[in-house]
Amino acid sequence: MFGIWGHTKAAEITYYGLHAMQHRGQDGAGLVTSDGESLKLHKDIGLVNDVFEQAEFADLSGHAAIGHIRNATHDDGNIENVQPLVFRSQTGGMALAHNGNIMNAYTLRGELEGEGSIFQTTSDTEVLAHLIRRNGKMTTKDAISDALEKVVGAYGFLILTEDKMYVALDARGIRPLSIGRLGDAYVVASETCAFNIIGATFEREVLPGELITISDEGIESTRFSVREPRRLCAMEYVYLSRPDSDLNEVNVHASRKRMGIELGKEAPVEADVVTGVPDSSISAAIGYAEECGLPYEMGVIKNRYVGRTFIQPSQELRDQGVKMKLSPVRGIVEGKRVVMIDDSIVRGTTCRRIVGLLKEAGAKEVHVRIASPRIENPCYYGIDMSTRKELIAANHSTAEIEEIMGADSVAFLSAEGMKHAIVKDKTIHQGICNACFTGDYPVLVDETT
Ligand code: SF4
Repeated sequence: MFGIWGHTKAAEITYYGLHAMQHRGQDGAGLVTSDGESLKLHKDIGLVNDVFEQAEFADLSGHAAIGHIRNATHDDGNIENVQPLVFRSQTGGMALAHNGNIMNAYTLRGELEGEGSIFQTTSDTEVLAHLIRRNGKMTTKDAISDALEKVVGAYGFLILTEDKMYVALDARGIRPLSIGRLGDAYVVASETCAFNIIGATFEREVLPGELITISDEGIESTRFSVREPRRLCAMEYVYLSRPDSDLNEVNVHASRKRMGIELGKEAPVEADVVTGVPDSSISAAIGYAEECGLPYEMGVIKNRYVGRTFIQPSQELRDQGVKMKLSPVRGIVEGKRVVMIDDSIVRGTTCRRIVGLLKEAGAKEVHVRIASPRIENPCYYGIDMSTRKELIAANHSTAEIEEIMGADSVAFLSAEGMKHAIVKDKTIHQGICNACFTGDYPVLVDETT
């Protein structure tokens, strides 16, 4: 998500902000502007570049905008579900963008439908819009606050009306969300890499349970929930975020490198060369190589014009993507004992193919080292790992995974090693969610009923 308030080029800047975060989803993109009188929307299925062409910006005038890029999680890539969602009524318009998952959406939707609400989409985001509208007699801020109190899950929300922008983060801060400044304008983004690209400066993280109102009068912070200890998604550090983003004052590349160092301490191996699966594993591979005193080499290269394999919705597409995407460098790996670092194993498909590619290219041995723990549990907080049966580590021992991969050895970083690599002592709100690795869920599933 990206939002801006107080800039004459709000739509264009939102486009650049979304473009910087394209790695977070490739199924759709949209943005809504406000010129103080009305909301204007443009959205479509596809990449940011495909959705927005120069001509579109003439129709997207306004000093404020919110934008969203979509990662379809349940084969729900219809245009209706591409965000922001816009709702119009006699009292004005409201646009919503949402990152995460509302765990009690099904129950809330049932209640709302029972009271006469008619839904336009299958998106859980729409539930919040109906909850807000139901509180029509309150001020918009109080209506949003009241609606957020009813929502259980892991989420960041951006809400734009004609005259205000609202920013909210769940009570545990599971999803990332930061505020910055661009001259006099306020900017909001899921990742700070979006600030870097537009020349904005980072101000602070949105706090767990915080509701921020931004308008021409300035910025106001309130709380809609008791603030729970922060539990930021560890997968943001492991895989999801860009290396130049900072989360909770911790740089993503630096944390990945530390994960590689911890992995080197926990699972060293006799080898000639260390290589990483581009792009998200390279930082960890550098750390592992440094710790083990081995050379880091680019043993696998990536075709940059193919989307991320983990995010594409079907297995068939994932298989195709891997073939198109990665190539071994024969001159580097031939006749060598190779340590191949991957950031994580979800389904195992990509990792298995790369081991095969390295062996085909003449690697004598391939030792797989994973810079995060075994993912044995589904994520209920908006990351596309929603069933145990798709998770290779939930169904196989490490020895079995070794065999499936065709690797000479496989080892994972421990949960303690990962936490040590991510959490720095100096920051106060720095707990992480590591539920998919450990089963320690910060929001219990039965809270949704
Ligand atoms: S369960 Fe895993 S992927 Fe989901 S929010 Fe927690 S750490 Fe992130």
